[in-house]
Amino acid sequence: MIEMTLYGRGGQGGVTLAKLIAMAWFSRGKQAQAFGVYAAERSGAPIQAYVRIDDEEITNHNQIREPDHVIVLDTTLIGESILAGAHAGGWIILNTPKPPSSFAAFRGRRVAAVDATSIATRHGLGTRTVPIVNTAMLGAVARTFGFSFDEVLALLEDRGYRGKNIDAAKEAFDSVATAQLDGEPLVVKPARNLAATTGLLDPGLGGRPAIHTGSWATRRPERRTLTPPCNAVCPAGNDVQGFIAAAARGDYDRALAVLLETSPFPGVCGRVCPAPCMGTCNRNAFDEGVNVREIERFVADSAHWPDPVLPWRRERIAVVGSGPAGLSAAYHLARSGYHVALYEGSNELGGVLRNGIPDYRLPKDVLDREIGFLLMHGVIAYVDSFVNASALEEIKERYDAVFMATGLQLARSLQAGPAMQGIAFLDRVHRHDVTLNGQHIVVAGGGNTAIDAARSALRLGARSVRILYRRTRADMPAIDEEINAALEEGVILDELALPERIDGSHLNCVRVILGDPDESGRRAPIADPSTRFAVDCDQLILALGQEPDRSIAGNTNVYFGGDFSTNEGTVAAAITSGRKAAEQIRARLSALPASGERAEGRVSGTGTAIATAIATIGDLHLNLFRHAPRQRGPALPPEDRRHNFLEVHTGLADASLEAQRCFSCGVCNTCDRCRDHCPDGILTRVGDDYRFDYDYCKGCGICASECPRGVVVMAEI
Ligand code: FAD
Repeated sequence: MIEMTLYGRGGQGGVTLAKLIAMAWFSRGKQAQAFGVYAAERSGAPIQAYVRIDDEEITNHNQIREPDHVIVLDTTLIGESILAGAHAGGWIILNTPKPPSSFAAFRGRRVAAVDATSIATRHGLGTRTVPIVNTAMLGAVARTFGFSFDEVLALLEDRGYRGKNIDAAKEAFDSVATAQLDGEPLVVKPARNLAATTGLLDPGLGGRPAIHTGSWATRRPERRTLTPPCNAVCPAGNDVQGFIAAAARGDYDRALAVLLETSPFPGVCGRVCPAPCMGTCNRNAFDEGVNVREIERFVADSAHWPDPVLPWRRERIAVVGSGPAGLSAAYHLARSGYHVALYEGSNELGGVLRNGIPDYRLPKDVLDREIGFLLMHGVIAYVDSFVNASALEEIKERYDAVFMATGLQLARSLQAGPAMQGIAFLDRVHRHDVTLNGQHIVVAGGGNTAIDAARSALRLGARSVRILYRRTRADMPAIDEEINAALEEGVILDELALPERIDGSHLNCVRVILGDPDESGRRAPIADPSTRFAVDCDQLILALGQEPDRSIAGNTNVYFGGDFSTNEGTVAAAITSGRKAAEQIRARLSALPASGERAEGRVSGTGTAIATAIATIGDLHLNLFRHAPRQRGPALPPEDRRHNFLEVHTGLADASLEAQRCFSCGVCNTCDRCRDHCPDGILTRVGDDYRFDYDYCKGCGICASECPRGVVVMAEI
């Protein structure tokens, strides 16, 4: 950016000259800005004007403090004070009858001199006491900066100038003298206060303003921090805004560090989380919500994973069950320094992440990476270690605390004849222990298990796959995108249908009508016996939901979590329940209070305590954002993916562009707009904070209206 300061007197046309200079560059395709600083000064009072030129959009509207070039329209203003803040390498362009070399104060600088007063007077511009020198100065400025006179002519004619103005510009263009003066340049510090307008009462140029305009104000700007809606709804308790802000800067290591504060599973959640953050994203009301899930996945897959923390405390904790809840608890306890032993009944770690969610959604190397990371924290895992009631008693004796997260082990059934349980079927799929070539498969249910069983059946060569669901699609608990993916792949969805009995290679079914809402709040399905029908069925898979095995519940001094104790049924909720249990255990063992959740002021990725109110779309200034389509990342076409277990979504090539779409609702991301738009320059940035100089703040509110994210607001005083 090029910045110029013009010094002149009221009536000489200094502000017009600034605008003409800006237009000259604008004609060459540059962005340009020009404005004057003057108020009620009478003719002859000192004024300043400013010009900015850049290739990019110019967002800084402050007065110029350290100009590259200085232009003086009035001979009486020439002095050392015009060097205030001026860069030594720029031009000093003077209205003077003297040659450049006669200005010792400007030694070591490039000086241009033109006798604009004589030229203007000769051409009858203005009066003898206040000649209008601007067009003559334009000629000299244009020549100094390498413009042709044809460009000057076109500019002036376009603005309606004729005759004497053009003659004056031409004479100055031809007569300006330039020189590089010898010597060490005199450096003069910038005026201390940007707000310095040179009013009638000011003794000199560039000093502090004489008037404390802060006393005029009836309101003043203040900064606040709101909770972004994504942070408010994240079931894993992640600082979504915080990690996205880091990703937007391309700092993926920092983004990963923010995620690992709350969850050991960014790569897992970056693939399978239903992502309520995306549903509540304020950007949905503008174009499309930010693709948080894909950004999280990219961060997990591309950032450098940090070194683990090893146990340093004396106490030992047992965790039973290695699904996301147990693993999360183990991770957070280990990070707090405890020795953790993990007991898992099956022969592999991961719970449903391992034996339920198929590879086409969650490749096992991603799961292995993240489990491997948490084991590196000194967690000792025992597989094939089913813990029954008596084993639990023994464990309680040996450990300082026990956390149980054994998930949902009891599958609901239906007396329809021979059928396979969906969760057992998926476990067999994971163990490569089943094929369905040419078979007609019917899946009963509407949750994630039903959808994953159906999509896996297709991939194992089933001839047809039909889901029977007793309510409508809108009521299905499965993730909506997964239902869509299943339908794209060719799964048939039969709504309002109940299986009754298997009859050879057919399944007899009955239609359902919906009655009054039941205890779940959804309308109760009622079989309508008059609407019997049959579908082809070689194998029925039941995915009607699961329940916890409560035979070991009720044990004192044992913490319970995950699907076992909540019915939220998501990986992210299981992660949070493990983290909360770890916090409670730590609080009990170390007699520390458990750290507060988000609403009580959790620490964000930028290290700022987050306040409570949730940022709404009304808090934002949408006019300051540009529309940009959501980056989705490629997916395998349905016809290619239905024959194999390759991962369907292949991820973004880079996440920073998508992360830059984040509004950062209610959280300052130091965009500087408040500072840059303050007309009085009373805002100073100190690190990631901004200070207002209320002595000089008139309370105009421009900073608040220029803050895109609702952080700066005006408060009555
Ligand atoms: P689990 O993951 O069930 O883990 C429990 C662990 O405890 C198991 O490893 C089990 O072997 C072990 N165990 C049980 N009893 C004992 C015992 N007595 N002794 C020792 N070990 C024991 N959620 C999402 O967010 N997104 C999805 O896309 C998604 N898809 C899903 C697909 C399917 C097919 C299923 C079934 C669920 C899906 N969910 C999804 C839900 C999510 O997986 C669960 O909410 C989550 O796994 C619950 O975690 P958990 O740790 O409580 O239990």
